[in-house]
Amino acid sequence: MTLIAVLGGGQLGRMLAVAGHSLGFRFRFLDPDPWACAGQIGELVVGGYDDPTALRRLIDGAAAVTYEFENVPARAAAWLESNGPAAGVPLSPSSRSLEVAQDRLLEKQFFQEHQIGVQAFADLSRPEDVAIAADTVGFPAMLKSRRFGYDGKGQCRVDSALEIDPAWQSMGRPPCILEAFVPFEREVSIVAVRGRDGAIRCWPVTRNVHRKGILWRSDVVAEDDAIIRAAQRAIDRVMTGLGHVGVLAIEFFVRDGSLIANEMAPRVHNSGHWTMNGAATCQFENHLRAITGLPLGAVEALGPATMFNLIGGRPDLEELLGVPGARVHLYGKEPRAGRKLGHVNLLNAEPSTIARVEAICARTNAA
Ligand code: AMP
Repeated sequence: MTLIAVLGGGQLGRMLAVAGHSLGFRFRFLDPDPWACAGQIGELVVGGYDDPTALRRLIDGAAAVTYEFENVPARAAAWLESNGPAAGVPLSPSSRSLEVAQDRLLEKQFFQEHQIGVQAFADLSRPEDVAIAADTVGFPAMLKSRRFGYDGKGQCRVDSALEIDPAWQSMGRPPCILEAFVPFEREVSIVAVRGRDGAIRCWPVTRNVHRKGILWRSDVVAEDDAIIRAAQRAIDRVMTGLGHVGVLAIEFFVRDGSLIANEMAPRVHNSGHWTMNGAATCQFENHLRAITGLPLGAVEALGPATMFNLIGGRPDLEELLGVPGARVHLYGKEPRAGRKLGHVNLLNAEPSTIARVEAICARTNAA
């Protein structure tokens, strides 16, 4: 039986296992948290990501090793790349994808080098960078930590040069970037998969709405052709440039009909969760196909699709399942403010049905 090793035991790992079970795959996760939710449906090794003993246990007998979050320590990736191949366990995507996606400065520079539009940005790692960054970027701006930021964490808006230092101080002065605030018309993302042979397949572009920095809703609706083409071109350049194998996502702002790349994730992505019920092959299955060298599945949407996240409070399952066509995915996690606990997918749904699910999810999220 094919065993897949996964760094991280959160909901993305769990959904990889849900998809992989139908291919007959088994899963082993590494996570420092003994309650990591993927452990409910696969083997869980509890240990530090850069502990060689834990890493050895993780990959023992596996066919491939992958990760479900991008903050994998560089030492862990280096260990896996020097020890995995000898044991026949390649790391996919490679450490190069991690290195670029982990650091907002390298990421923005990588986008620029690949002719992908970005907002004005500047490194803000040393006290002497403050004045130059303020001049280069202008205001309003976003101050973001270069590393370990997600779901709107590790970032704040600054409206003048005088606000930078106190804001930076309140974050603990980590290496940061300052980037221009974008008054966007909407946010979109593209998720794609690249196989070992270099073939790339892109799911349809989704429109995304964030609340308090956390994804709230994704919609697959008819999108402008120019936006679709630009997003596909961008992700093609990024994946090819990185030699990426597996799924990758890029989030963009749309302004004046053009795309501005905000960030990428070298993994399965929340804005691709609709694919579980709305696409010919879901992002989780195609990631597994890619990293094990199997043929990729078709990625067309089966119709207009919508996804809502369930954040923070325990959802009313009975109420949700009472909505015809609502497909509920819960992650087996305990409620906590701001925590992603599940999501709901809708396919070919009437506006009234979408509104009903939206109201239920919004109530849960406010709880
Ligand atoms: P991020 O962690 O960079 O994905 O940011 C989370 C969300 O905050 C984004 O999806 C936007 O809704 C908002 N945001 C982040 N950076 C900017 C920016 N430079 N301009 C406008 N909105 C932003």
